[in-house]
Amino acid sequence: MIATEELTETINELPKLSNEEIARYSRHLILPEVGMEGQQRLKAAKVLCVGTGGLGAPLALYLTAAGVGTIGLVDFDVVDESNLQRQVIHSQATVGKLKVDSAELMLKGLNKNVNIIKHNTMLTSANALEIFKDYDVIADGTDNFQTRYLVNDACVLTGKPNAYGSIFRFEGQASVFATEEGPCYRCLYPEPPPPGLVPSCAEGGVLGILPGLVGVIQATEVIKLILGIGEPLIGRLLLVDALGMSFRTLKLRKNPECPACGTREIKELIDYDQFCGIAPPSTTNGPLEASSHGVTPQGAHKIEGIPQLSVEELKKRIDAGDKPFILDVREPHEYAIVNIGAPLIPVGQVASRIKDIPVAKDHEIVVHCKTGGRSQKAALTLKQAGFTNVKNLAGGITAWAEKIDTSLPKY
Ligand SMILES: [Zn+2]
Repeated sequence: MIATEELTETINELPKLSNEEIARYSRHLILPEVGMEGQQRLKAAKVLCVGTGGLGAPLALYLTAAGVGTIGLVDFDVVDESNLQRQVIHSQATVGKLKVDSAELMLKGLNKNVNIIKHNTMLTSANALEIFKDYDVIADGTDNFQTRYLVNDACVLTGKPNAYGSIFRFEGQASVFATEEGPCYRCLYPEPPPPGLVPSCAEGGVLGILPGLVGVIQATEVIKLILGIGEPLIGRLLLVDALGMSFRTLKLRKNPECPACGTREIKELIDYDQFCGIAPPSTTNGPLEASSHGVTPQGAHKIEGIPQLSVEELKKRIDAGDKPFILDVREPHEYAIVNIGAPLIPVGQVASRIKDIPVAKDHEIVVHCKTGGRSQKAALTLKQAGFTNVKNLAGGITAWAEKIDTSLPKY
């Protein structure tokens, strides 16, 4: 039991609520677990949302509605029409605008009392610690492994809790990492998966509602951390399965050997692209895409020994009468959306269907998928099967639709 005097003292130290705010947050104020002090704590709190995409959207919206006083948004992207299936913080009216501007517009419309700080930049090892230092809680709404490890390590180094969420297709995960007592993301996943093994949402798809579900769980954890109530997901990993509609939690242990939070041998941020074994994401194109200026015409630019062919070069070659065998390695449901008439063998079947490839081992083969990730994998499989002239179509059918045949739909 807190003495009345003590309570008044705490309340006086925290920012005061206006009468308008008292009316706005009345459903919180009548909860004893929140109350006046809790609402003032929310007002004093500073939360950084890393990403304003699928997870960042519900996160920032609910934190804003709940009255978190300062919300930072990190994103470098612009709103694309394909975002609107799940990123409810953006709208048709803001397609083409910077995501941080689009998000700010929506959040300011929702709650004028909230201070929005925009970080229109890619989070990197060079800026993460500087950005994180002003916030109390970090909410990780990123969609790739390199940023996830970066967020984790920056949280451990700055001592900020990380409300983590991730999604894929119909499944999601959530936890609270990097608290003093609990494990961090590296305790759970010491090593990143091999590049290309886990497809991104752009490659593998995601049910639009799923990030809403998981992002709201992250927002709940953020609020609990600020208020100091309930049992946060510290040392627990919540697994969400939207198809089965089941929620399970796994116990997580802090790993004493963890180089981040255990032995503390990670004393500064590293090169996370290198750590995850991938080329740094381009800021202008899709995440897997080497932009065309990085791909020299003769395919001199190689990734894992596979020459990369640009869509412009392929078009030029076809127009000149060359007949490379073009193989589409996407899935049949993607083929149904759009195709360029190339035979289809899904990437998972390439190894077992080598006999279906009707050309000699030295014939030139150009493999394509949606953006160039899966086709790279398939090209390696073909090379291992003895084909000596295999190329990967950089940018895949998406680049083809953008640069060669703009009548084609993009998905
Ligand atoms: Zn750890």
